[in-house]
Amino acid sequence: MADQPQFVILFGPPGAGKGTQANLLAEQHGWVQLSTGDMLRAAVKAGTAVGKQAKEIMAQGQLLPDALITSIVTAHIADNSTVGCFMLDGFPRTLVQAEGLHAWLSEQGWAIDHLIVMQVDEERLVQRLTGRRVCSNCGATYHIAHAIPSHCTTCDSDQIIQRPDDVEATIRERLRVY
Ligand code: ADP
Repeated sequence: MADQPQFVILFGPPGAGKGTQANLLAEQHGWVQLSTGDMLRAAVKAGTAVGKQAKEIMAQGQLLPDALITSIVTAHIADNSTVGCFMLDGFPRTLVQAEGLHAWLSEQGWAIDHLIVMQVDEERLVQRLTGRRVCSNCGATYHIAHAIPSHCTTCDSDQIIQRPDDVEATIRERLRVY
């Protein structure tokens, strides 16, 4: 029987650096990042039924329904159960999601191993997010405080954009929701 997968939750407000830390941990330990935000942006780009539902909700900085997001995450884990360690980035983010995850993991005989909480001052978060630019091809991130290259230094794409929800009003709403 395969080893039990491990689960690490990265918890913190938008802009805390969950994705950045997840990339470093992935490099160092081979852990696998499961980012609900990335999954939803891919669904929006692909124009799937979930993507169509998510597009407007995300643009407003609101959350998708708990049952929907929980089923997406648990299905993804079930399909990739040979992964040694999952880092959950952006999920769970409500009590209902946390309870849903806990119940589902318990059914599999699995459990959450670590919870890493990241705390950052609110004005710094706003600064980070308003200046953030991302490669829409590979997700690499940049900040306007440093020169933005014309082509992504990771994948060479010229599609370095501002996420539609990285504008100040939406950022403040995302922080309020958090
Ligand atoms: P951030 O943490 O910077 O807000 P994410 O990339 O994690 O960004 O999420 C972007 C958007 O995707 C959220 O504002 C929300 O609309 C949706 N989303 C992501 N994760 C969840 C979740 N666990 N529950 C509900 N909605 C989610």
